[in-house]
Amino acid sequence: PDLFGKDRRNAKGWDLTDARDLESIAQARGPWADATFVAGPLIAGTVAGGAPYDARNPARPDDLLGQVTPAAPQDVQTALAAATAWQADAATRATVLNRAADLYEQHFGAFFAILAREAGKSQLDAVGELREAVDFLRYYAGQADGLTHPARGVFTCISPWNFPLAIFTGQIAGALSAGNGVLAKPAEQTPITAHYAARLLHDAGAPRDVLQLLPGDGATVGAALTSDARVHGVAFTGSTDTAKLIQRAMADHMAPGAPLIAETGGLNAMIVDSTALPEQAVRDVLASSFQSAGQRCSALRCLYVQEDVAPEFERMLFGAMDELRLDDPWHLASDVGPVIDADAHSQIADYVAAARAEGRVLHELNAPEQGHFVAPVALRVRGIADLKREVFGPVLHIARFKASDLDRVIADVNATGYGLTFGLHTRIDGRVQHVVDRVHAGNMYVNRNQIGAIVGSQPFGGEGLSGTGPKAGGPHYLARFTGAQAQTVTR
Ligand code: GLU
Repeated sequence: PDLFGKDRRNAKGWDLTDARDLESIAQARGPWADATFVAGPLIAGTVAGGAPYDARNPARPDDLLGQVTPAAPQDVQTALAAATAWQADAATRATVLNRAADLYEQHFGAFFAILAREAGKSQLDAVGELREAVDFLRYYAGQADGLTHPARGVFTCISPWNFPLAIFTGQIAGALSAGNGVLAKPAEQTPITAHYAARLLHDAGAPRDVLQLLPGDGATVGAALTSDARVHGVAFTGSTDTAKLIQRAMADHMAPGAPLIAETGGLNAMIVDSTALPEQAVRDVLASSFQSAGQRCSALRCLYVQEDVAPEFERMLFGAMDELRLDDPWHLASDVGPVIDADAHSQIADYVAAARAEGRVLHELNAPEQGHFVAPVALRVRGIADLKREVFGPVLHIARFKASDLDRVIADVNATGYGLTFGLHTRIDGRVQHVVDRVHAGNMYVNRNQIGAIVGSQPFGGEGLSGTGPKAGGPHYLARFTGAQAQTVTR
């Protein structure tokens, strides 16, 4: 099939403005509103299990989702001993992944409920996340047949809590499409989503020894899975610091050249110049910085507004911020849900408190008392250099710039060393090319928001401190999961 042409279809998804779709979501999700779940290791062998802990809803801490049994060190060893590449041909692998995509879609009610209750995902985010997961499965399945090189062996896949279904699935689908075995370690905060998804992948036909799930923390499970010669590569999404730790562990324990495919952090900017359409730019700033409570590595962190229009633009932006509704993401009307847990909450709150003490708060909403909600806030900065680190929450920094300083702004953005997403709002055609040619960022978005890359059309991933490539959801991703082989057969 022509993956970029007429044969490729992204998942249809659900339309939250269509009453029939809303009704079918309400019906399908209902039974899972107070269901309890279990999550634990799925390995080819007997599970020993670590000390169980409770999984709680970040929006409503009295909502207990169930119990999680993390993998014990012994479970990691059992899984490593059993791990194997997938001895099935490309057509079989593609069939299994396509079947998994269908199962994911059929189980949408459970997924929307779990994503809201475990990860604090709004309905809009949950729909986007399930679509992306399904797209990854079908997109990589479609490429399995065209691979020119064999699988490498076994991959460790370490996924983040902010996309507990989409990125979890994307890494696994990439590794499996290419014929590798997988040892998957989901984030500690979102094992229930991962467990539910892994069971569907097994039901679809992924063998038990080819796909194994090892929930647990980085120190116990992650470290063991990234420092073992029986592993031939690692796919990781998370912080830049953790990526460096993994790289060192791999260098010490794995064969030279074992690939690390890392998607890490970002310090992402957007420029709004005086020719931008203000209503559209306001809407796109809100989505880019506050959707998912700012918990995307693609999220807008530093907005540059051209000085001439800044007072009026900021006034409009703060007015629009006031319309955002902070609420339990179970409710359709919720625009901004909680951050993931109490730790994240206190780190972001401390950061905002320090900015408040310096008189840098431009505008701030109120957060509900219950749950780990952080109120969206806009802070004044002189430029992106004032952001010392990525703050993973609904915190927008705003700087003003003069038109004559555009190239200095670009230089400052590049100087962060990150290079993930970049946004530009302008109606000057020549300026689009000028900026796009100079900014170092993996994903450039012009006159729209800068989040929510679509599999197949917007391959996602950055450069520098933001990751290694290849881009997820793009034509080059699978090749990194394969080795090199020249076949010479003499008859
Ligand atoms: N792919 C996501 C997006 O485009 C971001 C992934 C992440 O936060 O890790 O918004």
